[in-house]
Amino acid sequence: MLEKVNKSQKYITLVVLILAISGLSGGSYLYYQTAEGIKQNTADLEIKILEMDSTIVKLENKNNTLTYALQKEQEKNGIFETQIGEISGTVGKLDKLSKTDKELLQKYSKVYFLNEHYVPEALVLVPKEFLYESKKEISTHAKVLPYLGGLLNAASDAELDLKIISGFRSFSEQSVLKGAYTVNYGSGANTFSADQGFSEHQLGTTFDFTTTSVGATFSGFSKTKEYEWLIQNAYKYGFIISYPKDNGYYEYEPWHWRFVGKSLAKRLYEEKQNFYDLEQRTIDSYLINIFD
Ligand SMILES: [Zn+2]
Repeated sequence: MLEKVNKSQKYITLVVLILAISGLSGGSYLYYQTAEGIKQNTADLEIKILEMDSTIVKLENKNNTLTYALQKEQEKNGIFETQIGEISGTVGKLDKLSKTDKELLQKYSKVYFLNEHYVPEALVLVPKEFLYESKKEISTHAKVLPYLGGLLNAASDAELDLKIISGFRSFSEQSVLKGAYTVNYGSGANTFSADQGFSEHQLGTTFDFTTTSVGATFSGFSKTKEYEWLIQNAYKYGFIISYPKDNGYYEYEPWHWRFVGKSLAKRLYEEKQNFYDLEQRTIDSYLINIFD
């Protein structure tokens, strides 16, 4: 019996031992396997992380490239917008220039004067209070009236007696005027070539000034304080004396003043130059701003 027990005990012990050994080796194998697996996994993960890092770097680079490209595009758009702005500005200027009457700053001479059919774009009556003879009707280029009014009001504020005796004159009016003064003056265009100032009156931008004391003869106008005031102040309202003393183009007409716009008038005043001494192309550069 004891032997039997011993035998079965031994058997059990053996089985247990075998189980234990196999269990241990199995466990260590498992352990080994697991450790290897973890190592492998870790390595895989590290590789993955590196790959992801590299992907992130690539994406960042791509992002930078896109940002740069976007900036470039925006810059291009900016340049394009500026160009469009410049082009539309130029178009605007050309449009304004095309709508400005080129005759308004034209130099006239004994051989070149305004076409007989020329009429200003719009004429209005000069208010009676500005006229030497209030019963007369004197017209002006509509756009010049505000400047003329500014000049005459300023003269009035300076307690001067400055009046308008002549403004716009049409070709036919001039013809009648000439006829009244001149007999056997000749015929055709040459009839008026002696009056260089006439073309300027046909523009509607030109006026003859006088004072009550001087009247219609203009005699002694150049000695009046009104004339002196015009010499010092008319440019502020865009007016110039077309034929000043000792000019090389036409007889001295101290009463005859033409509107040429503030900027050109200011230049002529400051540089002590005469309108008729400037090159036509220099004068033309002021045309676009004549009513500014
Ligand atoms: Zn005149």
